[in-house]
Amino acid sequence: MPTFRAARGTRDLLPDATPIWTSLERLTADLATRYGYHRIETPMFEQVAVFERGVGEVTDIVEKELFRIAPRSEESEAWALRPEPTAGIVRAYVQHGMQTWPQPVKVYELGPMFRYDRPQAGRYRQFWQFDVEAIGDPGPAVDAEIVELGMRVLREAGLDGVEVLLNSIGDSVCWPAYLAMLTAYYRGHADQLPQLEKDRLDRNVLRLLDSKDPAMAPINAKAPRITDHLCDACADHFAGVRGHLDALELTYRLEPGLVRGLDYYTRTAFEFYVAGREGQQQALGGGGRYDGLVELLGGRPTPGIGLGIGLDRLVLALEEQGRANDGDGLPPTAVVVGADPDDTVSRLRIATTLRAGGIAARAELGRRKLGKQLEAAVRDGAHFAVIVGDELIEGDVQVKDLSAGTQKTVRLDDLPRELSRAHAAHHHGGPTASP
Ligand code: AMP
Repeated sequence: MPTFRAARGTRDLLPDATPIWTSLERLTADLATRYGYHRIETPMFEQVAVFERGVGEVTDIVEKELFRIAPRSEESEAWALRPEPTAGIVRAYVQHGMQTWPQPVKVYELGPMFRYDRPQAGRYRQFWQFDVEAIGDPGPAVDAEIVELGMRVLREAGLDGVEVLLNSIGDSVCWPAYLAMLTAYYRGHADQLPQLEKDRLDRNVLRLLDSKDPAMAPINAKAPRITDHLCDACADHFAGVRGHLDALELTYRLEPGLVRGLDYYTRTAFEFYVAGREGQQQALGGGGRYDGLVELLGGRPTPGIGLGIGLDRLVLALEEQGRANDGDGLPPTAVVVGADPDDTVSRLRIATTLRAGGIAARAELGRRKLGKQLEAAVRDGAHFAVIVGDELIEGDVQVKDLSAGTQKTVRLDDLPRELSRAHAAHHHGGPTASP
C-alpha cells in the first residue's frame, strides 16, 4: 500500500483516460462559442455567504455538502469551495457592474466543483461541470436556446438516447398559495416523514419535493403539483418555452415532479438523462431560470437562466455506450531514432525542428540499440521513423515508412515538409489511413 492516496471521492485522471476529457473540453468550448457564449473564469472558492444566499441555506448542497475552508483566525472570512458555478458567476456579474453591459450577458465556464457528499459511482467530491449562463434575458426564447444547446453538447459528444425532462416551478407570485397547499399536504403525512424532511417542512417545504430519501418517493408522487397552480404570467412563460422548443423540433418530456434542489430557481427547470435511467444519481446535467438570484446577491432585479452538464457522468455514460475512445490520443507522426545510441543531441535537435514545423514527433532519448529504438517506434504507432546515421554529415537522414516498410533518403532541410506531405497522404485514403 502506498503511503499517500488521492482523497476519498477524488480521482486521478491518468493519461490513458484524458483524451475523452480533452475532446469534451474542446467540444463544449466550441459549441458555447458558436452559440455566442463567452468564457468566464471565477475562483474555485468564494465567501460562504455567496453560496448560503445564492444556493440557499436550506439545501443539501449548503447544509450537508459544502466544503468549508477553516478560517485561519477569528477575524478572517469564512470561505468554501464552490459546489456549483452559478452563484459565483452571478456574484461576478454584480461585482463588475455587468448590468450596464449590453444585455443579456452570455457566458460559459468549465471547471471542478466540490461537494462533501458520500462518494459512490457517478458521485464524487470533486467533479467537473460545463456551465452556461444567460443573464439579463427574461425568456422564454433563450430558455429554449439553452435547453437545445445542452442537448447538442450531449449528442455531439456521441451519446445516444438523451432525453430532456421539463417543468416550470413558478415564481414568487404563484408560490404562496401553492406552498400553503403543499405544507398542508405534508402535515397530513407528518408521521411518515423522515426527521430531516420534518425539520425542513417549516423552513423550506419545496425541498421535500426534491428529497433524495427513498421514503419520500411515494409521498411526493401524490403531492400537489406546481404546474396545476401556476399564475398567468408563469403559465404564459411556460407555454412560450414549449412553443420555442416545438419550433426547434426538440422533443421533451413534461415532468411535473422536477423541482431541482436549489433555492434560486424560478419558472423553467430541466434535466438531461439517458432514457430509461432517470434515477437520483443519473442526471447528466440540468438547469433552469433564476430570476431572483441577481437581487439576492445584491444586484438590481435581473432575470437569468443557466445550464450545467456534469462531465464525469457524461464520460461514464459514454463509456457505457462504448463511445469513450474518441479523442486526441493520436500517435506521434514521427519518431527520431539513431545508429549511434549516444548521439541524443542530434535526435533531440531534429525532433525539435520537426515540432517547430508543426509535426508531432518523439525523439528516442534512451541509449539503446537502433533495433530496439525502431521496435519502440512501431509500438508507439508512429507513421515514420527518422533514422539518423553517418549521412547526417551531408545533411541527410533516412525516413522509414513504418506501415509500408519503404525507406528513402531525405534532406534535413526538407524533412518537415516531406513528413507533412507523406503524413497527409497517409491520412487521406492511403492503405493505412487513420480514422
Ligand atoms: P446539480 O447542480 O446537482 O443539478 O448538478 C448538475 C450536474 O452536475 C449533475 O447533473 C451531474 O451531472 C453533476 N454532478 C452533481 N453532483 C455531482 C457529484 N457529486 N459527482 C459527479 N457529478 C455531479
